[in-house]
Amino acid sequence: METRVAFRTCPLCEATCGLELELEEGRVGRIRGDEEDPFSRGFICPKGTTLGALHDDADRLRRPLLRRGGAHREASWDDAFAEVERRLTAVVEAAGQDAVAVYAGNPNAHNFANTLALRPLLKALGTKNVYSASTVDQMPKHVACGLVFGDPLAIPVPDLDRTDFLLLLGANPLESNGSLATAPDWPGRLAAIRRRGGRVVVVDPRRTPTAERADLHVPIRPGTDAALLAGIARTLFAEGLAAPGPLAAIVSGIGLVGEAVAGFTPARVSTFTGVPAGLVLSLARDLAAAPTAVAYGRIGTHTTAYGTLAAWLVDVLNVLTGNLDRPGGAMFPHPAHARPRPVRRAFRTGRWHSRVRGLPEAMGELPVATLPDEIETPGQGQVKALLTIAGNPALTAPDAVRLGRLLPGLELMVAVDPYLNATTRHAHVILPPPSLLEKSHYDLAFTALSVREVAHFSPPVLEREPGTPSEFEILVRLAAIAGGLGAGADPSALAAATLEARIVEAVEDPSSPIHGRQPGEIAAALGTRPVEERLLDLLLRTGHRGDAFGTRPGGVSLELLERHPHGIDFGPLAPRLPDALATESGKVELAPPALIADLGRLEHALAATAVGGLVLVGRRALRTANSWTHNVPVLVAGRDACVAQIHPEDAARLGLADGATATVGSAAGSVTIPVEVTDVVMRGVVCIPYGWGHGLPGTRQAVASRHRGVNVNVLTDASVLDPLSGNAVLNGIPVTVAPA
Ligand code: SF4
Repeated sequence: METRVAFRTCPLCEATCGLELELEEGRVGRIRGDEEDPFSRGFICPKGTTLGALHDDADRLRRPLLRRGGAHREASWDDAFAEVERRLTAVVEAAGQDAVAVYAGNPNAHNFANTLALRPLLKALGTKNVYSASTVDQMPKHVACGLVFGDPLAIPVPDLDRTDFLLLLGANPLESNGSLATAPDWPGRLAAIRRRGGRVVVVDPRRTPTAERADLHVPIRPGTDAALLAGIARTLFAEGLAAPGPLAAIVSGIGLVGEAVAGFTPARVSTFTGVPAGLVLSLARDLAAAPTAVAYGRIGTHTTAYGTLAAWLVDVLNVLTGNLDRPGGAMFPHPAHARPRPVRRAFRTGRWHSRVRGLPEAMGELPVATLPDEIETPGQGQVKALLTIAGNPALTAPDAVRLGRLLPGLELMVAVDPYLNATTRHAHVILPPPSLLEKSHYDLAFTALSVREVAHFSPPVLEREPGTPSEFEILVRLAAIAGGLGAGADPSALAAATLEARIVEAVEDPSSPIHGRQPGEIAAALGTRPVEERLLDLLLRTGHRGDAFGTRPGGVSLELLERHPHGIDFGPLAPRLPDALATESGKVELAPPALIADLGRLEHALAATAVGGLVLVGRRALRTANSWTHNVPVLVAGRDACVAQIHPEDAARLGLADGATATVGSAAGSVTIPVEVTDVVMRGVVCIPYGWGHGLPGTRQAVASRHRGVNVNVLTDASVLDPLSGNAVLNGIPVTVAPA
């Protein structure tokens, strides 16, 4: 029996662990953590062992499906693309390009080929109706960083391996494995902070596993983190502890921030957040006193009505304590494929607005919470067609019931997706990508969020079936149809044209290390790999560590990464200011007018707040990431994961026993769900995980349909958003709970 070992980066979450896969006769056997991976050093979580199961999943689609007479039937690739062309052309001719909406799900960020193909596809579609998972959970951070640092992708990450004090808010990396901060083995890294005498403090309405292992857990009323952060900032100013040190020379607006947070006294903040005033003071003092310290906020802070404020105030604290851009603080990653400096420009949102609610775009996207409005409301620009790429918005986007009701009425729905799920069951055409093991992998997105500078490239572990296109080819072919070239256009010629355009851009860019070189020379040097890999190689070789196609011998190229199957560790992050800034001023703009103004809204809420009633928060579990992981038996085995957690005192008051069934209702809808009575949640909080609600008619996910759970997004109210980012509000939703 032929056996071999392959190494690859796990693409299932942001931690980017190295995996060692045993392969026997073309089948995946045991999967372990790669001990020689310099970043993850053998760490693996339960999801990482399931790549073989995901590949072998009988429900994973291998051929395109066409919807005919209410049922999906297999079709050839040519027939599937011809159907897309026929329907798309009709929609665009009748209603224009904005009638076609695109929704890109979170797995696109784990797929460099999709990231590279999306740009030409969106250009060809020419629609303003672009949506993604970013406005479900992370747009606040992008907007805050865009306003403060000039670049929405310049996100400082906690220097976990060198910090002395880590303040985590709304983050549970022991189960999520981290987000907007890429680090394998959060458990080990957090334990190491404490071992070297540092402290970890977790602010969360729930005593999460991360909070259990921290030095201090600070329960907080959901949705109020921004006020706590403002209170800490206010204390730093009031007690003379605001000490940005050398940062002062490159930061504008510190004084304005001091004035803006003046009203956030510990007493007022305490009433609003439920955090004792003394703790607000001591958190500020501890942050200031620690040799190095870093504040880090994640999904629980972003998915609130003050998400962008919270994202901004985290970095305000890091600046005020002198911890931005220094070892042990919050540092800017610099992936190998990135240029030395970003282009300076004015970041702004609202370059266009959504048709129905007038909501501003951010990073070229509209809030996904308003997608149902755009589908339902008649008029010029009404969405008539939807292309989803690796996304399941019917489960994961707000106002799920309404979206699910509207999708069947679309004139065209195309899904690039491996499953027939709650969303894709409505698609006229489903185009399945190859399995995760049949594509090459490089973390274009997550090396830009990594707490060390690392680079890994993984070639495909298994061969694609002959005649099956890569995901890059699928998207390029869709771009060709959208661009009027037709379903019969040669995808390899189209992909080559995309590459040529990128090469020309690079040689014409004065900041590129290959400026002035001949495009033909560069194209020849890139060889004959699949086009997406050549595009990646171009980025790597023109990046700040690149070989510049021969002028920097020993520099990074795809070929170099291939010679290092466990990856290359370039070391800890180095200070990057002011080079990482893209602001027009060349400074950190700590007091953008939009954020200062929004702080007034928060202060107003501080004064007007009426505390009481139950509120909803979300929950992440170690064994799940995206909704499709619920179709892997080992990841859904055991106790029912989709339960509503409620505090014993609330349960007693409501007459609910552990294991009882309750109806949880909000302004948007209601669900009926089993209850777990537990004091891990604070009083007044109901906690339900996301991504469930399987087993709908027309879906084909046998395992998930036996573990249905309920769709928590039935409860999210799409009318309430974080106004600066358009992000959905998933935490702090008022709910009622009653025995079912
Ligand atoms: S922590 Fe994330 S990257 Fe690591 S094995 Fe688990 S799912 Fe994969």
